[in-house]
Amino acid sequence: MRRKFNRKTFFGLSAGAIIGLPFLLKGLKLDAQSHAKAEGLNEEVHDWKMVTTWPPKFPVLGVGAEMLADLLQEMSGGRIRIKVFGAGELVPALGCFDAVSTGAAEMGSGVSYYWAGKAPALQFFSTVPFGLNAQQMTSWLLSGGGLDLWRREYAKFNLVPFLGGNTGVQMGGWFNREIRSIKDLQGLKMRMPGLGGKVLQKAGATAVLLSGGEIYTGLERGIIDATEWIGPYHDYKMGFHEIAKYYYAPGWHEPGTQMEFFVNQAAYDKLSDDLKKIVEAACLYIHNWILSEFESQNAKYLRLILQESDVELRQYPPEVLDQLKRYTQEVLQELIAKDEASREVYQSYRAFQDEVGQWSEQTEKLYYQYLQ
Ligand code: CA
Repeated sequence: MRRKFNRKTFFGLSAGAIIGLPFLLKGLKLDAQSHAKAEGLNEEVHDWKMVTTWPPKFPVLGVGAEMLADLLQEMSGGRIRIKVFGAGELVPALGCFDAVSTGAAEMGSGVSYYWAGKAPALQFFSTVPFGLNAQQMTSWLLSGGGLDLWRREYAKFNLVPFLGGNTGVQMGGWFNREIRSIKDLQGLKMRMPGLGGKVLQKAGATAVLLSGGEIYTGLERGIIDATEWIGPYHDYKMGFHEIAKYYYAPGWHEPGTQMEFFVNQAAYDKLSDDLKKIVEAACLYIHNWILSEFESQNAKYLRLILQESDVELRQYPPEVLDQLKRYTQEVLQELIAKDEASREVYQSYRAFQDEVGQWSEQTEKLYYQYLQ
């Protein structure tokens, strides 16, 4: 009952967020071809399908995909028209990569660690445990050579990637027992995807893969003992505070998860040069909106969780994080030892992290220490 109510509220908020956005107000009923003619443009209209890994109208991420579609129609004067499909509406969530790669859809929205099975190097364009935060990730991609590597790796699958938002530092997850030492993770069945899941396995836990829709029931029925999801906004809507006692920080496994839009190479090649720039600019606009939205909603919803429930906020002890960090290095070394593309991408990522980390030590770290 409660979850249904939550879901409705969720979508209600999303619709409200959409209505408030200036970009979405116009252009929806444009006749694109006549508009193009009116503008004196003798150009093809690109009717695209965007498949997403998110449920329809999923807060922030699904909403962001729809905002992008409307923004592109507006910015292109109707020359790009995109119909957005939620997960399962055209293809399943994890079918998006193949659908766009083969050209069955022209555009997709997701996160690259979902595609690690296609090529392990792809997951470095999402997040790495104990890796870059959102600001640093954007910087690696746009100013540190990361985007060139991303384009190179995605080109192998006929895809052109674009920045599509970032969650910021996620939360460390929901538990019904305290984590005082690394031993408390042993035997724990925890929902955690990606490289973080592999790190957990090294700590003696079992990483369980459950899709978003399965987590609440899994935790309630004891199929899993613990779970991570995203951050307070999405976690609150899932209702985890009703069935878990401890909420742990920080999300060491996802310190700044990069979201993505990707376009089929042939569809992209058909765009005129100005439309290519418009796609890039619109994706960057949404990238910023998504990060901002996460930051502002998470702050608000952490407060609500603590006000409305008996959940106790906890921090992972430093010794636990130290050990998880050592396991992360093992996981990464094993990965790059057997895959050349992963090695190359990770070397770039790691070199950037080492350098930018020294800068952060002298700036952000000192600043936050002072504020505290
Ligand atoms: Ca997560």
